[in-house]
Amino acid sequence: MDRFFGKIVDGQAIIDDDKAHHLVHVLRINKGEKIEIVDTGELFLCEVASTSPLEIKVLENLYKPSELPIKVVLAFALLKGGHDELVLQKGTELGVSEFIPYISSRTIIRLDEKDKAKRKARFEKIVLSSVEQCKRLVIPTVQDIKSFDKVISQKFDHAFFAYEGLSHESFNLASEAAKVKPGESVLLIVGPEGGFSEKEVLAADEKGLTSVSLGKRILRAETASLYMASVFSFLGESYK
Ligand code: SAM
Repeated sequence: MDRFFGKIVDGQAIIDDDKAHHLVHVLRINKGEKIEIVDTGELFLCEVASTSPLEIKVLENLYKPSELPIKVVLAFALLKGGHDELVLQKGTELGVSEFIPYISSRTIIRLDEKDKAKRKARFEKIVLSSVEQCKRLVIPTVQDIKSFDKVISQKFDHAFFAYEGLSHESFNLASEAAKVKPGESVLLIVGPEGGFSEKEVLAADEKGLTSVSLGKRILRAETASLYMASVFSFLGESYK
């Protein structure tokens, strides 16, 4: 069944002109056919009451929540070779609510303001297509591309800094993650291919971020991001 993002107003579903055109002239929907409409995290079964003008009436709210009970915010450094696009696609599937792309001292990619805006638009497209594939009812947000300092200054209930320089004896992600409760927000920060500078590690520590080891092996940046997102996806799904 076709699904569109739209707005439910007084028992009617409103979709934007592009989507309306696609529904009527490309999909050639007929009067009486059913479609699904997503409005701010809720899913509605609807019926096309008329195609000209397009009228879509709501039949019922199909209550199928898709979100984690914790707000997972993933800050990832821009990566070469489109590996950061993998982070967005898989992070969306794993339930990340918000992405913060950033540039740090060892990020290989350097962008001017125009390129940053273009890169962000591309990231949003990747997230949207992943939302459609994994049937999420909420579209994760992608913040503007930030500096490292701006990332670590943002406030969340918990903030974990994946630092590869920690000894694996301090492999404390499991114990730290267990402290996160439903309804709370958690910021996860992963470094670029070249890792974090001493200065960045100190700055994160001064801001009170919790440094965590992800184990005995050095993971690629994209692997580390998906590892952390998986931990909190698993944790979030385990809450009853
Ligand atoms: N400087 C690293 C090295 O020694 O080769 C490379 C950085 S690693 C490819 C990219 C990022 O993934 C790191 O900055 C860190 O955020 C995360 N990461 C990878 N392995 C990790 C580990 N075992 N513990 C904590 N963080 C890790």
